[in-house]
Amino acid sequence: MSAEVRVRYAPSPTGQPHIGNIRTALFNWLFARHHGGKFIVRIEDTDQNRLVEGAVEAILDGLRWLSIDWDEGPEVDGPHAPYEQSNRLEIYQRLTEQLLDQGNAYYCYCSREELEKLRRANRDSGEGNGCNCLLRGRDGAVAGMPVGDDDRVVRFAMPRTGVTQVHDLIRGDVEWRNELQEDFVILKSDGFPTYHLAVVADDHLMEISHVMRAEEWLPSTPRHLQLFKAFGFQPPEFAHLPMITGTDRAKLSKRHGATAIGEYEEQGYLPEALLNFMVLLGWSLDGSTEVVSLQQIIDNFTLDRITKSAAIFDQDKLMWMNGIYIRDLPADDLAARMAKYIPHPLDAGEQDYLCNIAPLVQERLKRLDESDDITSPFFGELASDYDPDTLVQKGMDAEGTAVALQAALRDLESDTSDDDFGHERLEALLGETGQRLELSRRQFFGLLRTAASGRSVSPPLFETMEVMGRERVMARIGEAIIKLQGKLKSGHPKFNNPEFTVNNTPSDD
Ligand code: GLU
Repeated sequence: MSAEVRVRYAPSPTGQPHIGNIRTALFNWLFARHHGGKFIVRIEDTDQNRLVEGAVEAILDGLRWLSIDWDEGPEVDGPHAPYEQSNRLEIYQRLTEQLLDQGNAYYCYCSREELEKLRRANRDSGEGNGCNCLLRGRDGAVAGMPVGDDDRVVRFAMPRTGVTQVHDLIRGDVEWRNELQEDFVILKSDGFPTYHLAVVADDHLMEISHVMRAEEWLPSTPRHLQLFKAFGFQPPEFAHLPMITGTDRAKLSKRHGATAIGEYEEQGYLPEALLNFMVLLGWSLDGSTEVVSLQQIIDNFTLDRITKSAAIFDQDKLMWMNGIYIRDLPADDLAARMAKYIPHPLDAGEQDYLCNIAPLVQERLKRLDESDDITSPFFGELASDYDPDTLVQKGMDAEGTAVALQAALRDLESDTSDDDFGHERLEALLGETGQRLELSRRQFFGLLRTAASGRSVSPPLFETMEVMGRERVMARIGEAIIKLQGKLKSGHPKFNNPEFTVNNTPSDD
């Protein structure tokens, strides 16, 4: 491509940015980065009734979270500032004057009811669907009308004959019969432009080379092309991105789990994973590779790799991809990200502790919002909040379990290799204890697992114990014994007897 690539993401701040909308931003950004061009953010806030407070911040935060940076736009400004359309009203008004002077536009004073009547009449008389206000002569000439009415709008006089054609870089040649197009409004009665006028004006003034946007905007393209023509502006290239559907092929909605970008962050998706997932909503490297690095994406982000057919949004795939990215993180990076999802503040020691925990849970963690739950066995009292019955393994009773825990505690206490609390050492030491007690590995390690972590399922037992450290492990085994004691009759004579073997049937004396 010879001329500089300049693309724009032009969100309307009418709510929280959703995944489909952010996909448009992402594709434009990737296209700009691939070509060494410029990525521009323009806020299309001309529909004053639909503005939602905080939406611009949410949009920009979403981009920042995904590390999508912009070269021109809000906060960074640039040679074509301002980048908020509400601050560019004079430009649109001036351009409207130009079209009025040229006879490409006219004032319309019709009420909604009148227009509806006209639309019906046009349809019945075979004039097409176009809604053309009566002030425009039926031969296509524009009637001059008095000015000064507050309710008037300015309409663009669409050509009545011929076709408007575009060569869309993704969809190929598309054409529309002009007689079916209506004379759309370009300037509203409040002096604000409509989307159509503002988008054409700004795409020209901001020297946009490619308009890459969602397919739903394709039907607006003939209007835009006619406006470009009327102004005498060279239109940009167009590339309409494929629609996104759910796995049921219905248009993407909240029901498919497609939520606002901020919610993905809350739910613990990694921005890198979401970005990789989103890029596959319409682009593919080779039709099969799913996990693609950002650099690989940028290097290969060409329009011929964008599909025409609808892209399917599959929430399960996103979850799977998130797991892949989580497993790929270095431990300290993962720990730092997990910390944000743990509601209680972590002091420096606990943060280090979390760095050691992270590799143990990395395999099982699918979303960062599971961090609190998955690490709770490692922290404070959370772990002891379990039912003592879960300590008791199949084929054992509470008393035998308590005795086994006491034996473990004793062996840990009498272990002289103080500074070796490594998992291999622990496995050898406690493996012997279990053998001496004539318990199966499943039984003995099962009860140790519950005692140490409060869970019957946890990361590998001895690695977990190693990370928890001697003090914590011994304290927890002690707590487990107390829990079991609470269940047993107090003062059971054999309970504290070290010679008591777990296979004995406890007698009730
Ligand atoms: N403001 C429009 C939107 O919110 C932009 C459409 C376009 O890119 O032309 O989607």
